[in-house]
Amino acid sequence: CGIVGYLGRREAYPLIMKGLKRLEYRGYDSAGIAVFQQNKLNVFKKKGKVADLEQAIGAKDLNAQAGIGHTRWATHGEPNDANAHPHLSGDKKLAIIHNGIIENYAALKKRLESKGHRFLSETDSEVLVHFIEDIRQETGETLEDAVRIALREVVGAYAIVLMSEDHPGRLIAARKGSPLVIGIGKDEYFLASDATPIVEYTKDVIYLNDLEIAVVTAGELRITAPDKTEKPLFIQKVELELEA
Ligand code: GLU
Repeated sequence: CGIVGYLGRREAYPLIMKGLKRLEYRGYDSAGIAVFQQNKLNVFKKKGKVADLEQAIGAKDLNAQAGIGHTRWATHGEPNDANAHPHLSGDKKLAIIHNGIIENYAALKKRLESKGHRFLSETDSEVLVHFIEDIRQETGETLEDAVRIALREVVGAYAIVLMSEDHPGRLIAARKGSPLVIGIGKDEYFLASDATPIVEYTKDVIYLNDLEIAVVTAGELRITAPDKTEKPLFIQKVELELEA
């Protein structure tokens, strides 16, 4: 239901937690985050409030410059720790957060299970991250293009953000039907379902269009269409005041 992502020079963990709290007004039943630490993906997720997740993580040292966070409004699978996002690929190297519904997940899941994929949740979202992993393995395509190929087959609505251990300094985002805003700071990027977690850091935002894929690296943002053509960056000033 709510998405936050960050890549830049600040501490990602407190920033993402604060962002998730900004999105609490949207309603949710579980929360989770993934951060890179020493180029390894670390995932924490929990049924309940963002405060419950924070408490479960406790005083762990989550020093990280990139990360993603999610608040879930369950559509496929009850609210519990396993069904909370982020979800991981089979090799645990790729993490996804997803808002929306993958309508053809059951058929995709069946196909992937027959190829040996094992699932740890009942969600439609976990199927998508395995599907992307499978395409990478089958075709040898880059992660970005594997996402592109996967989304061509997906029926439904989504805003997704992915992080991969193969590319620790990168976030990949895409949307169709569900909103996704990219905030552009100085040497830093923010991703969110709406501008509320972003505005205290930057007013410069790009609203990702349906079917576009955004790739964020330390110094660069690239947005491409489904046919891989690069899109010009249309930066807008967000007009949104937040209560402190
Ligand atoms: N369909 C996904 C799930 O049930 C995502 C729900 C959401 O948008 O939070 O886990």
